[in-house]
Amino acid sequence: MRKALIPLAVAVAMFLLGVFIINTQIWYSARVDSLAGARYAVKNMNIILEEARHATRTAILLADNECDVEGQYRLGTEAALQPHLRTIVILKKDAVWCSSLPGNRILLVNSAALPKSSLLLVPARSTVNGRPVLIYQTEYAGSRIMISMSDSHIRDAMDIPLNGILYSIKVGKNILGMTGDVETVNDAHRADLSVQATDFPYSIDFDSPPLFSLKKLIDGAGGVLLFLMLISGLSAYLLHKYLNKNTLPEESLRRAIFRNEIVPFYQPIVNGKEGTLRGVEVLARWKHPQGGYISPASFIPVAEKTGLIVPLTQSLMAQVSAHMNAIASKLPEGFHVGINFSASHIAAPSFVEECLKYKDSFIRPDLNLVIEVTEREPLDVDEHLVQTLNTLHENGFAIALDDFGTGYSGISYLYDLNIDYIKIDRSFVGRVNAHEDSTRILDSVLDLARKLKISIVAEGVETQEQLEYLNRNNIAFMQGFYFFKPVPFTELIMILLSKPRVKVEVESSASL
Ligand code: C2E
Ligand code: CA
Ligand code: CA
Repeated sequence: MRKALIPLAVAVAMFLLGVFIINTQIWYSARVDSLAGARYAVKNMNIILEEARHATRTAILLADNECDVEGQYRLGTEAALQPHLRTIVILKKDAVWCSSLPGNRILLVNSAALPKSSLLLVPARSTVNGRPVLIYQTEYAGSRIMISMSDSHIRDAMDIPLNGILYSIKVGKNILGMTGDVETVNDAHRADLSVQATDFPYSIDFDSPPLFSLKKLIDGAGGVLLFLMLISGLSAYLLHKYLNKNTLPEESLRRAIFRNEIVPFYQPIVNGKEGTLRGVEVLARWKHPQGGYISPASFIPVAEKTGLIVPLTQSLMAQVSAHMNAIASKLPEGFHVGINFSASHIAAPSFVEECLKYKDSFIRPDLNLVIEVTEREPLDVDEHLVQTLNTLHENGFAIALDDFGTGYSGISYLYDLNIDYIKIDRSFVGRVNAHEDSTRILDSVLDLARKLKISIVAEGVETQEQLEYLNRNNIAFMQGFYFFKPVPFTELIMILLSKPRVKVEVESSASL
């Protein structure tokens, strides 16, 4: 679970970090763009105000002369020729002295009452045509020259096509935005960002671009986001694979044990002379939900290395006793039920107690419960092992030494242990063929086993020759594909019900 969450968390973190970086970059460049836009608006506004400044000079010349037809004509021409100016008005003693409009008309409601500052934003209510206006104002020798500029020209100057940024012009405490009327704000009002003009007393104000905007992110970096998503997903997948590389077998085996996916198969053990069923060896199989049955060779070593062999064998023991109890009435007298135990499990302090409970769980008290101990790995025969196996032997268990002849530990310990069966490894039986000298190794292994006066089980019997050879040597117990392969419980029931008699050559009777 933890190993699935880590890659997921890494993918989410990678994606969020990527989004954060892209978003910061988009925000930063929007901020830079908006500042550049504001400077551009200042440039546009200065062009308009330069026109007003130029027109003021014309008005000054006139103020020193007469406002006759000629003078009015010159004011009108100046206003008409400068593209952004609306009217030019000269006040003397707070009254309109001369105007660019015919008949000395004026568009301001009460021009004399307006403050005398050099730049003014006048709201719509103070104009005759109901439109806000910007006034550029100059005092000259008792005259007041007022030049008005239409709101539409000012808004055009501020109309910079930048996504989501709206500029406004601020003159004193008055602000004119892209829509609506002039607004008066208090001292506390401050725009996020502002660019102050140097030549004229106004600033271009605007709000900083939002710190996060999903729309901008998708519009500006949709492709990059998609790529980022792919990269994060791929990284999570690779990390998941890497994290699970070493531990997957252990984790999935643990899960399999607790889901009862490790099931017992049963390989019948027969009496080679009589052809009767004498017992079974329990062989673990992993009933994998996808992979079918998996051989123990691939998971028993993992189980042994990780300690999972203990719960694995315990699960098998429980299933085996349930199976045998279910068919208790069909089992022949003294039927062998052998289970393979790993040395590490036998060394566990609770092993004897586990086995005694296992024995108690069978309905049939006469069953021959066999503990198979492998010799394949060097067996560490210490006092504890000897005592454990001997205690179990005293309590009615049979002890079988598995894979006899393949181990390296010598046979001296056989004198300390109460061994009931020796299982001759199939690698020796498998060599036996029609050639006379093919039995040489097996001859000596059997000779050794016989000298120890311990019953023998031959494993891996596959051919008629091998069976005949074993019968000639009075080996009563045999196990191998010649008779039966390991089978699931349901097939074992069918085998038991059909009471098979294996075709064998009867020369002499077995004594086991
Ligand atoms: P093993 O205890 O020597 O079991 C006998 C193996 O020989 C089984 O392999 C069986 O299928 C195979 N076999 C039987 N007859 C023949 C034959 O005629 N020809 C051939 N070629 N093979 C034959 P399997 O089931 O693959 O088990 C392999 C080993 O895994 C077992 O060898 C045993 O050491 C171990 N094992 C299996 N189940 C368990 C278990 O529950 N616990 C432990 N600790 N080890 C187990
Ligand atoms: Ca075995
Ligand atoms: Ca064996």
